[in-house]
Amino acid sequence: MIKFRALRSGSKGNALLIYTADGGLLADFAPGCQRDCRALLAEVKKKTALRGVLVTHAHGDHINRNSLKVLAEAGLNVYCHPKVLAQIKERHGYEYAGIIKTYESSVTVGCFTAVQAEVEHSPRCYTNALTINTVSAGRAYKAAVFTDLTRFTPEHITMAAGSDIIYLEANHDPELLARYGHPGSEFHLSNPQAADFLHRVCAAGPAPAAVVLGHLSEDCNSPELPAAEVRNYFAAKAAPLPFSLHVTPRPGPGAEISISR
Ligand SMILES: [Zn+2]
Repeated sequence: MIKFRALRSGSKGNALLIYTADGGLLADFAPGCQRDCRALLAEVKKKTALRGVLVTHAHGDHINRNSLKVLAEAGLNVYCHPKVLAQIKERHGYEYAGIIKTYESSVTVGCFTAVQAEVEHSPRCYTNALTINTVSAGRAYKAAVFTDLTRFTPEHITMAAGSDIIYLEANHDPELLARYGHPGSEFHLSNPQAADFLHRVCAAGPAPAAVVLGHLSEDCNSPELPAAEVRNYFAAKAAPLPFSLHVTPRPGPGAEISISR
């Protein structure tokens, strides 16, 4: 069995938890001030033994000085691309850089093996998508994390294909964005792009058991729109929705999702 929960989601902070009976892993960790970081970490530790933290990019809603300080206190290591480490140092200082270990394409942390690939996001912020692989009770599981991306490529479809669970950004509704505007939203995946991504991933391999949409914009999305967009997109393609669909409320947490095979 593998469990997933979006603990925080959105521009005010992100933290995703993946765990099995053998331990847990966070993908990004920036829940707020140091007190918030300590409280969330304590909550996570009640559920699982954390093995480390993967970081997708250096934006402050994914990692920052406060969260690095708390992770350092907890004796946890952070794993990211060398270019992300350079940008973390630039943006959040060198003080806690000692807990950060770098990897180019894949790293093993506890019982998990993470693979990362670059995605286009905001300029001057090197950003990755992740897949996280693990074996639990003799079964292999794969989770994919696509948070914060401007667009996806065929490489990303191949990367996500065959995942048991996919966390995917559905940041904004294009009409709401056109009407109200929001600086920076152009660097994030829209609801229709997210729907297209999921449809292509399902065509490229076995469908995921669960999809979790997240990182919803406060100004240019609503809790209902992303799931409606995905359902309508699949219906328009005459394709039954082959996965359970969950939307992470802002600012989280979302539902805890268990997958067993
Ligand atoms: Zn970002």
